[in-house]
Amino acid sequence: MTVVAGLKSYGSEAGEKTEERDAKRFWRTLRAESLISQSGDFNAALSCIIITHFHLDHIGALPYFTEVCGYTGPIYMTYPTKALAPLMLEDYRKVMVGRGEEQQFTHENIVDCMKKVTAVDLKQNVQVDKDLQIRAYYAGHVLGAAMFYACVEGSGIVYTGDYNMTPDRHLGAAQIDRLQFDLLITESTYATTIRDSKYAREREFLKAVHKCVANGGKVLIPTFALGRAQELCILLDDYWERMNLKVPIYFSAGLTIQANLYYKVLINWTSQKVKDTYATRNAFDFKNVHSFDRSLLDAPGPCVLFATPGMISGGFSLEVFKHWAPCESNLITLPGYCVAGTVGHKLMSGKPTKVDLDKDTQIDVRCQIHQLSFSPHTDAKGIMDLVKFLSPKHVVLVHGEKPKMDLLKAKIKSELGIDCFDPANTETVSFPSTRFEKSDASNAFIRSSLTPNFKFPKDEITDMPSLHVHDERVSEGILTRVDGKKLKVIGFKLVVDSIWFS
Ligand SMILES: [Zn+2]
Repeated sequence: MTVVAGLKSYGSEAGEKTEERDAKRFWRTLRAESLISQSGDFNAALSCIIITHFHLDHIGALPYFTEVCGYTGPIYMTYPTKALAPLMLEDYRKVMVGRGEEQQFTHENIVDCMKKVTAVDLKQNVQVDKDLQIRAYYAGHVLGAAMFYACVEGSGIVYTGDYNMTPDRHLGAAQIDRLQFDLLITESTYATTIRDSKYAREREFLKAVHKCVANGGKVLIPTFALGRAQELCILLDDYWERMNLKVPIYFSAGLTIQANLYYKVLINWTSQKVKDTYATRNAFDFKNVHSFDRSLLDAPGPCVLFATPGMISGGFSLEVFKHWAPCESNLITLPGYCVAGTVGHKLMSGKPTKVDLDKDTQIDVRCQIHQLSFSPHTDAKGIMDLVKFLSPKHVVLVHGEKPKMDLLKAKIKSELGIDCFDPANTETVSFPSTRFEKSDASNAFIRSSLTPNFKFPKDEITDMPSLHVHDERVSEGILTRVDGKKLKVIGFKLVVDSIWFS
């Protein structure tokens, strides 16, 4: 099985263009390196494409691949991803056009591309062809995000996409079965970060926003239209209710309002808490949130405004930034992660008094800056927990920064004893595969496997039994297969290797 992971990885190249999801360049590179197919016959070379979630660094190159490169094979994604992907792609296309860049795909390309997508449910077994089977698992992160298990003749891999191991206000935590497989490919955006309590971080954010509006200031919250916007909105809307605040909260773009509609429709994919309270109150019916009109930009009085894009790399959030940054009483919140070259990244590095937008435009920054420390990505502990839980034979780290990935790689090797790799883009790593097969067992064999057989070896130093129980029972039997039929283990011999109280 060959896996080409990621349609574009973040932060892999230096310079101004790092946030670009250059679809053309991505496929050209793969082709030049013969990673999929040198001849360009992608249909013959690929069994299918799997999209884990709607973020542009995961789907940005898809319409180009189907409509320009001519891939016509199967494409799989979850129902919410299929619903939300066209919004994201259309928004991306408009930003490209707005910046005067070459349009890599048209509106019609997006529509035609989405028609080729097969939507899947969580835990649904999808038989792609006679050899390949895939299955999606809940990944948290954003609405509809999934991890995928893929298996060919009993030998399998898990590709995580982006995931979150802790629930947030609107989504649950990632959930996957304890599967047996050879290779786990996991994101590692926060390969070395361990986060403290989420409530403390939320309180800090609310305190900063409240203080600003209480002093008559305006708060700009640049954000991705989907995911973070809903998460922060639930938080603020709740707080506004509790504190009986009357200051208006605005959404800038139609995209976000539209996205909230989808969230309401796709309520089943959100967190248990949102689902539980749905009968009495829909968490996405924000009481205090209104849509923003451009004429309000210079209106007097305090307000809170959600505007895209998240890293202030262009679009409306940049326009608002130009208006609001020079005033001391205003506040700008920044996401936990900003790509180099964006205004967000410049604001994160120290406390700049001026930001150069281009060679002719310089903005005075006198406003306050608050950096959000919550993120829909798992932290390092979450990655370690998942690797430990799944215990694959090999781990490959992707979607991260090289020095941090190197540290995590060393930790996975030393603490979990699992082989780990962090290949660069276009680098290939290969692994031997193991064939896992289900087998029946004779009653005698099952009985012998279940019978406990304890031994109490003494601890040579303390001479005391301790609390940790380690059971390494090994049952032996004979594996049979008659006439190419199902496997069966027969036998009765039980060998107890060791049981430790250590
Ligand atoms: Zn993502």
